[in-house]
Amino acid sequence: MKLAARVQQVPASLTLAIAAKAKEMRAAGIDVLSFSAGEPDFDTPDHIKAAAKQALDQGKTKYGPAPGEPRLRAAIAQSLNAHQGLNFQPDQIIVTNGGKHSLYGLMQILIEPGDEVIIPSPYWLSYPEMVKLAGGTVKLLEAKADNAYKITPQQLRAAIKPQSKLFVFNSPSNPTGMVYTPEEVRAIAAVLRESEIAIVSDEIYDKILYEGTEHLSLAAADPQLQERTFISSGFAKSYSMTGWRIGYLAGPRDGIEAMARLQSHSTSNVCTFAQYGAIAALESSQDCVEQMRQAFAQRRSVMLERVQAMAGLDCPAPHGAFYLFPSIAATGLDSLTFCNRLLQEQHVAAVPGIAFGNDACIRLSYATSLEAIQAGLDRLETFMNQVM
Ligand code: PLP
Repeated sequence: MKLAARVQQVPASLTLAIAAKAKEMRAAGIDVLSFSAGEPDFDTPDHIKAAAKQALDQGKTKYGPAPGEPRLRAAIAQSLNAHQGLNFQPDQIIVTNGGKHSLYGLMQILIEPGDEVIIPSPYWLSYPEMVKLAGGTVKLLEAKADNAYKITPQQLRAAIKPQSKLFVFNSPSNPTGMVYTPEEVRAIAAVLRESEIAIVSDEIYDKILYEGTEHLSLAAADPQLQERTFISSGFAKSYSMTGWRIGYLAGPRDGIEAMARLQSHSTSNVCTFAQYGAIAALESSQDCVEQMRQAFAQRRSVMLERVQAMAGLDCPAPHGAFYLFPSIAATGLDSLTFCNRLLQEQHVAAVPGIAFGNDACIRLSYATSLEAIQAGLDRLETFMNQVM
């Protein structure tokens, strides 16, 4: 069968390949410890599950409005406005099948062949593929290790060209865990204001912050940018709802209406009763978010201290999300070889940095128990002592 060219160029996800290999080894009875998860290990909080079960019993099992249940759109707008100093109306919100689908849809409604999309690198691995699927061209902007994997305003200014259509910003970042300070966000916003480029700020980790770090939404940094700025987010990471597939896009009305038309011909609506779980997540106490954040904070301290002490790993302190992104450059190994050997020799799964555009690093997720973290780090230390 001859497949369409647009899908032939899309590689299979490297993260999934490592996870599949680890799973295969586990099935063969090998005790694999994994630092590869991109999802919280906690169960979805009970009150959220209860709300979805109740919605099922109440017959919320039919098609719903393509842009989402009105109560959920209103709750999302309310939450963004209250916590981020924004000013969204419910009709500026679309509920999507996860943050991933918000971003995919956005590329579809904005990007045409010849359009360039500026993406800081290291990047979340799906961004470039989504751009290519929309027929656009990727322009990577290297966020250097010596600048804590953040781009500078000067870099951004130099990268914006007449063909630049969209800038993708992600803070806190997957894979690096880095968080731009409010001052840095404002400096990026000031550069964006000099152009007419559209902006998407992926803020899916905005509630997972450490050591008093503050998150400023790029959409809140400069009111003048609001008519061309989208926020992409979702419930997966903060509420441990990865499998529910609920995300959203907030932004200018014309963009959100276009997204709703696209969604009406592609996915119709997000699972109706699942949306009632998301309503409960936003309308109930946020204690569960804080409890999970505290657990991540404890794991982060343990992991960071030990990784920073290991010879051959160089790891700046991340202040958000649940990842470390240490450099393995001192080992002389490329990231795929490093991760394959770590898995084969020590039975520890990590994600090669090449998946995120940086072959000198690996991504370690601490969305796993403290016991697994300690045991996994013992093995990583043994491995490092062997390769150094
Ligand atoms: N954006 C980033 C940076 C992510 O890490 C992820 C998930 O890994 C997503 C978006 C998509 O999340 P979901 O589609 O599960 O809501």
